Amino acid sequence: RTAITATQVNRNVSIAPLHARGGDVTIQGVSKSFGPLKVLDDVSLSLSAGSVTVILGQSGSGKSTLLRSINHLERVDDGFIAIDGQLIGYRQEGETLYELKEMDILKRRVEIGMVFQNFNLFPHLSVLENIIEAPVTVRGVSREQAETEARELLARVGLADKAEAYPRQLSGGQQQRVAIARALALKPKVLLFDEPTSALDPELVGEVLSVIKELSSSGTTLIIVTHEIGFAREVADQVVFMEQGRILETGTPHKVFNRPDHPRTAEFLAKVL
Ligand code: ADP
Ligand code: MG
Repeated sequence: RTAITATQVNRNVSIAPLHARGGDVTIQGVSKSFGPLKVLDDVSLSLSAGSVTVILGQSGSGKSTLLRSINHLERVDDGFIAIDGQLIGYRQEGETLYELKEMDILKRRVEIGMVFQNFNLFPHLSVLENIIEAPVTVRGVSREQAETEARELLARVGLADKAEAYPRQLSGGQQQRVAIARALALKPKVLLFDEPTSALDPELVGEVLSVIKELSSSGTTLIIVTHEIGFAREVADQVVFMEQGRILETGTPHKVFNRPDHPRTAEFLAKVL
């Protein structure tokens, strides 16, 4: 039996699961149009709890709309999305609509966190206040407990000393790590990242990717839109290539990057690699 090294011990502490269990995602036959433009076209995808999925595709292929649909920021026209077999809002099947009560929709929504390209921190709130705002107002956690948890999360993203700082005093990479801590504070089963490093100076990309990489073994299901192929190769269980609202290809990073089935995937990769 091999001895457990100190780094492994630390790692085991830091990767403690952030939520009870679950996080299977089912996306079934989802379509969405903006006027005449079909932005999602019969998208189906299954993600198992705790897995990491990277979504690739050109600008305009529907990646953000798909993430926003999972997070219920967009209403799909057809199909449905479920977490652990439970609808996240409604299910449209032709003319028939099954819809949850508003209270249940709000409860479901807390299970899904999102991190945006431009951080979207509240500029007038300190780092700590940014993180505790939702747990206190949405989940009814006491301020004291929310603060304790927020400080733990800040340590986890390497910003223990920035609790009292304001967003404008932080670099982009630090702001994005705060945004990740803020999303984690709601203990989501599923965490969505929409190009989390594309607004960052190149030298700050690594620190954000390493925080996401650390989360990849935390039990939270991660869905990440990114063009960082090296990161995807290392961290993703599944890579999805989208074009014109459709999923053209899914597979392991090894499969999609080394032997893509679809010529369009190969063309895209040739551009971003
Ligand atoms: P991606 O994230 O892959 O770049 P998006 O999902 O943002 O793609 O957009 C897909 C298409 O939908 C684009 O053509 C975009 O212009 C269009 N689109 C996105 N949101 C809206 C909206 N609210 N109204 C109209 N068109 C939209
Ligand atoms: Mg986008």
